[in-house]
Amino acid sequence: RAKGSAGASFMFFDIAMNGASRARLDAEQSLGKAITEREFLLEYQPKFRAGSRQLCGFEALVRWERPGKGRVSPADFVPAAERTGQIKALGELILDIATAQLRAWLDAEGQVLPVAVNVSPLQFDDAGFTSRLLALLDERHLPHDALEVEITETAAIGHVDRVLPQLHRLRKAGVLCSLDDFGTGQSSLTMLRNLPISTMKLDRSMIDPLPEAQASAVVRATCVLGHSLQLEIVAEGVETEVQAQAAEALGCTQLQGYHLGRPLSAAAAGVLLAAALGVQLRTDSMPTQPP
Ligand code: C2E
Ligand code: MG
Ligand code: MG
Ligand code: MG
Repeated sequence: RAKGSAGASFMFFDIAMNGASRARLDAEQSLGKAITEREFLLEYQPKFRAGSRQLCGFEALVRWERPGKGRVSPADFVPAAERTGQIKALGELILDIATAQLRAWLDAEGQVLPVAVNVSPLQFDDAGFTSRLLALLDERHLPHDALEVEITETAAIGHVDRVLPQLHRLRKAGVLCSLDDFGTGQSSLTMLRNLPISTMKLDRSMIDPLPEAQASAVVRATCVLGHSLQLEIVAEGVETEVQAQAAEALGCTQLQGYHLGRPLSAAAAGVLLAAALGVQLRTDSMPTQPP
C-alpha cells in the first residue's frame, strides 16, 4: 500500500514535469521564432532633470507584441530568455532597435538625448559584446554618449569578473553606464567605488515610502555618497508630486516615473524630444537678462 501510493505520486510528479517541460519548450520555441520575426518593440520612458523638470533622456523598455495575443511585459519573458540563453539574441535585437531610433531622432532633430538600454549580465558572457556595441554605434555614426547601458545592482555585483572589464571598456569609449535598481542588491561601498558607472538609479522601493523619515535618511545618505563619486542619481518609480519634491530635496539629480511620464511609443517620445530640444534651443539663444 505504501508502495502503491509512492508509485502514484511518482506518476503524478512525472506527468506534472512533462507538462511543465512541454510548456517551457513551447515558450522557448515561440520566443525563438519571435526573435527571428522581430516581434519586439521598445517603449521610451522619459527622464527629467530634478528642479527644472527638463527632459534629459529616455529609458528603453522592451515589449513583446505577440500576433493575436497582445502585448507581453518584459517581466514575463526576460527571465525565460535568460534561462534559455536567448537573451543574447534578444539583447542584440534591442540594441539594434534602440540605435536605429537614435539615428532617426538625430536625423530629424540634429541632436538627441541619451537613451538607456537594459542589459542582462548574460550578454556580458560573450567577450565580443562590447566590441559589437561600439561597432554598431560607429556604423550608425552615433556619439557614444547617446547610449546608456543599464545593469542591475544584483547583476553587476554577482558577475563582477565578466561584467567589470567590459564596463570599463564601455566607459572609456564614452558610453554611459548606470547601476539599476540600486537598493535592492547588496553592493558594498567599496564595490561602488570600483564600478565604472556614471549613474545610479535608486529603486522604486527606496522612493515609494518618501517623505517618511527613515526612508528619507537612507535616500539622503545615498545621494551624499553618489555626489561624492560624481554620479548622476535617478529616482525611479516616482508616482506622486510629494515623492518628486522629496527626491529633489534629498539630492536626486533626475526623476523617472509615472508621475512625470509613462513609457511612450517611439512616435510619442519623438514629439516630446522635439518639443524639449526646441525649448532648450530657444533658452540657449536667449540673451542674458540684465539684473
Ligand atoms: P527597470 O529597468 O527597473 O525598469 C523600470 C520598470 O518600472 C519598467 O517596467 C517601468 O515601466 C516601470 N515603472 C516606471 N515608472 C514607474 C512608476 O512610477 N511606478 C511603477 N509601479 N512602475 C514604474 P517594465 O517596462 O515592465 O520593465 C520591468 C523590468 O524588465 C525592467 O526594470 C528591466 O529590469 C526589465 N527590462 C525591460 N526592458 C528590458 C530590456 O530591453 N532588456 C532587458 N534585459 N531587460 C529589460
Ligand atoms: Mg532599467
Ligand atoms: Mg530600474
Ligand atoms: Mg526597478
